[in-house]
Amino acid sequence: MKVMKFGGTSVGKPERMHEVAKLITADPEKKIVVLSALSGTTNALVEIGQSAARFEREKAAEQISKLSSHYHSFIGQLLNTEKAREQALAIIREHFEFLSIILRISFSESLNKDILAQGELLSTKLFSVYLEEQGIPHVLLPALEFMRIDETDEPQLDLIRTRLTELLARYPENKLFITQGYICRNAKGEVDNLKRGGSDYTASLVAAAIQATVCEIWTDIDGMHNNDPRIVKKTLPVEQLSFDEAAELAYFGAKILHPTCIWPTQQQNVPVKLLNTMQPSATGTVIQKSTSTKGVKAIAAKDGIIAINIKSSRMLLAYGFLRKIFEVFEKYKTPIDMVTTSEVAVSVTIDNGIHLPQILKELEPFGTTEVETDQTIVSIVGNEIVETRDVLNKIFEALSQVPVRMVSYGGSKHNVSVLIPSSFKNLTLQKLNVKLFGLE
Ligand code: ASP
Ligand code: MG
Repeated sequence: MKVMKFGGTSVGKPERMHEVAKLITADPEKKIVVLSALSGTTNALVEIGQSAARFEREKAAEQISKLSSHYHSFIGQLLNTEKAREQALAIIREHFEFLSIILRISFSESLNKDILAQGELLSTKLFSVYLEEQGIPHVLLPALEFMRIDETDEPQLDLIRTRLTELLARYPENKLFITQGYICRNAKGEVDNLKRGGSDYTASLVAAAIQATVCEIWTDIDGMHNNDPRIVKKTLPVEQLSFDEAAELAYFGAKILHPTCIWPTQQQNVPVKLLNTMQPSATGTVIQKSTSTKGVKAIAAKDGIIAINIKSSRMLLAYGFLRKIFEVFEKYKTPIDMVTTSEVAVSVTIDNGIHLPQILKELEPFGTTEVETDQTIVSIVGNEIVETRDVLNKIFEALSQVPVRMVSYGGSKHNVSVLIPSSFKNLTLQKLNVKLFGLE
């Protein structure tokens, strides 16, 4: 049994949805298909939630009606028969009635999660109507019946496995299952979600839960590229990655995969394939336990980084100093990405500055602090990269005109990261592309 996940753009137009139906029926293997909301829908729902939260009812009503028209024209092109169109209209009516009710009741965070869930509920139900119209047998599995997160928002893989296995056992003859990405229930039983872009995570969790043969992530590019195609002219798809390499790349900014979604498939050793709906025959990228390839694979960049430097002569020969500093970040639930230390100073980076003022206040007793915003982490990732000859040499040659602020080397065998001012990002990615890949 395999898992196939299609993102927002892959289902965002009626003709793309038709294409998805072809792809999922191209082979006879039993499968669970995970769908995102139509592209643009979750953003629209976020905006509707924001308007509702600010009691801007008229604005919310306008946003809802705009989204509703989009769905009406969508089904006009998705479906052919009157019967199917009637069914789809009823679905749209049901979900948009819910959205208009929110304008009349008091807003809460849990209501907002209900609003956000409408996108995936709509996409899967409409797709199901289309499959039925085409005479393609399938079962719609409600994600809210098996996707669960705990009090700390962590998915509960064991529970997901148990529930999903029970559900699947009810349909022993069925070969095609459709379910929603992104949405789940939380520990209180309320509707919740796996955060933006979370449909990849759903796919990975489902694949791990059922021990799938493969977890296919279908998007609109042909796999993970060696560099950011929006910035450098020439990039190449990377054919093979290990789970560790993929995790580093996703975390450090490669846009193709949601960073948290690697661990379930890694833990259960289910290979992940990144494939292109626009070009189904392209090789794409395979992510699996180990790869036969070594050396530099790809470069990723993560913007919006804040560097904090803490300097104190009391750090000299003192123990417990780093712990006390890290505890401040822990208290404010702010993860640290990079760390460098000298005998009298320590620099760390964070990507979330919400609690920065409190953090700086609490760091005061430890010494003088300096903050630099608008920084970018550029990560050079590859299997055993730190043992590959000349890599450091080439990186520093490429960076000769860049004011590098921090370097992280040796923490992982697969990653060398540098912190640079964001204004130097384009230059850095271009220079590295030339030096490391020979791509002008
Ligand atoms: N629809 C959700 C989002 O746009 C989840 C996803 O597409 O992965 O964030
Ligand atoms: Mg996505």
